[in-house]
Amino acid sequence: MTVDVALVGGGLANLLIAWRLADLRPATSFRIFEAGPVLGGNHTWSFHGSDLDPASLPWVADLARATWEGYEVRFPTLSRTLSGRYHSIGSAELASRCRGRFPDRLETNARVTQLTPTGLVLADGSRVEARCVIDGRGWESPPGIEVGYQRFVGLEVRLARPHGLTRPLIMDATVAQEGGYRFMYAVPLGPELLLLEDTAYTDRPEIPIEDSRRAIERYATARGWNIVEVVRTESGALPIPLTGAIDSLMRSWVPGVPTVGVRAGLFHATTGYSLPHAVQAAELVATADPLDSASLAPVLARLTTTVWRRQRFFRLLNRMLFFAAAPNERYRVLERFYRLGEGLIERFYADRLTPWDRLRLVTGRPPVPLLRGLACLPERIPSSSR
Ligand SMILES: Cc1cc2nc3c(=O)[nH]c(=O)nc-3n(C[C@H](O)[C@H](O)[C@H](O)COP(=O)(O)OP(=O)(O)OC[C@H]3O[C@@H](n4cnc5c(N)ncnc54)[C@H](O)[C@@H]3O)c2cc1C
Repeated sequence: MTVDVALVGGGLANLLIAWRLADLRPATSFRIFEAGPVLGGNHTWSFHGSDLDPASLPWVADLARATWEGYEVRFPTLSRTLSGRYHSIGSAELASRCRGRFPDRLETNARVTQLTPTGLVLADGSRVEARCVIDGRGWESPPGIEVGYQRFVGLEVRLARPHGLTRPLIMDATVAQEGGYRFMYAVPLGPELLLLEDTAYTDRPEIPIEDSRRAIERYATARGWNIVEVVRTESGALPIPLTGAIDSLMRSWVPGVPTVGVRAGLFHATTGYSLPHAVQAAELVATADPLDSASLAPVLARLTTTVWRRQRFFRLLNRMLFFAAAPNERYRVLERFYRLGEGLIERFYADRLTPWDRLRLVTGRPPVPLLRGLACLPERIPSSSR
C-alpha cells in the first residue's frame, strides 16, 4: 500500500492531524494505524477556549461533546468561579466523527512494528510506503527524564436526581489530602449525568482503581448525589516532568520520523494536558509545504524544543508541588495560584506565561517553606527527597 501520510497511533494527536488534513488538504491520502481495537482510547479531553489560537478554536470546539461558560475551583479557604469557555471532547465521539468522515482511512488492530521516514511494517508483515510517516504512539518514559504522575480515575455516572452543577468544578481540593495533592474533578455532562474524577499528584504511576472508586462514591454521597449507574470508567497516569534535558527525549525518537503528541513532549508539564499542543501540531502538519518526513521532522522538533525550554518554569513548579511541602500541605501551592488574576491563570493553562507572570508566581507569601522551595530551584531532584 502507498499513501501520502501514514499516521502511527490512533490517539488524540493523530486523530486531530487527520481531521485537519481532511479540512485543508482533501486531496492528500492518509491512513491511521492503531494497535488497539478502538481509536482514541477511553478519555475525556478538556481544554479552556483561551488555550487555543483563535484561528483553531472553531474547528476544535466543533468536536466538543459539551461546552460551558466558566468553571469553578474549591480549596479549604477559597471558592472561586472563573470566566471563559471550557470544553470537553469525548474520545468515543471523536472516533465516531472520524469514522463518519473518513471511514476507509482508519485501521484498528494494526500494530506497527517498524517505522522509517518513508514507510512502516505492520505486525502481520504487510508494508506501507509513505512520503510522510508521523509517530504518535503515546508516552514512553525516556531515560534521563524524571517524572512524577498525575493519576486519576474517572467515573461517568448517572444520578437519581439532577445534580444542580451548571459548570465544571475542575478542582475540589477540600477532599482529604492523602499522599500528595489530591482533588475531585466534576464535569456536568447532562442534568443527571456527571463525570467525577479522583485525581492525585503522586510519585508512582500505579492506579488504585478500587480506592478511587470508593473515594468518588463517598464524595458523591457527601454532595447528596445518589449514583444509580456507572456508565463508563476512565483512568490514566500522566507524566509530570520534574527534570530533564530535551536531548534525552529526542534520543528516544525514530531518527528522521516526525513525532507528535505526548511522545514528543508536547503537553503542559504541570497539568499533563496535551490537547492545545496537539492542535498546534495538527495545524503545522496540515499546512506544511512540502508535506514529507524530511521537511516536517525538523519543524516538529523545533516545536518540541520551544515548548520544552519554555516549560522549564513549569518543571520548577512541579518540583515545588512534589518536594517543597509535606504531602498534605501541597494543595496550598494551587490554592495560592487560584487567588491570582484571571489573565495570569488563563496564560498559565495556555502555556503563554509572561516573564512578569513567572515572577508573580514565585514571589509574595510563599505557599511552601522557603528553604525547601529554594532547594527546588536547580533542575534536579532536591537531595533530601531522594
Ligand atoms: C484518562 C485520561 C484523561 C485525559 N484528559 C485530558 C484532558 O482533559 N485534556 C488534555 O488536554 N489532556 C488529557 N489527557 C492527557 C493527554 O491529552 C492524553 O494522554 C492524550 O490521549 C495523548 O494523546 P497522544 O495522541 O499523544 O497519545 P495517545 O492518545 O496515548 O495515543 C497513542 C496511541 O498510539 C497507539 N500505539 C502505541 N503503539 C503503537 C504501535 N506500535 N502501532 C500502532 N499504534 C500504537 C496506542 O494504542 C494509542 O492509541 C488525558 C489522559 C488520560 C490518560
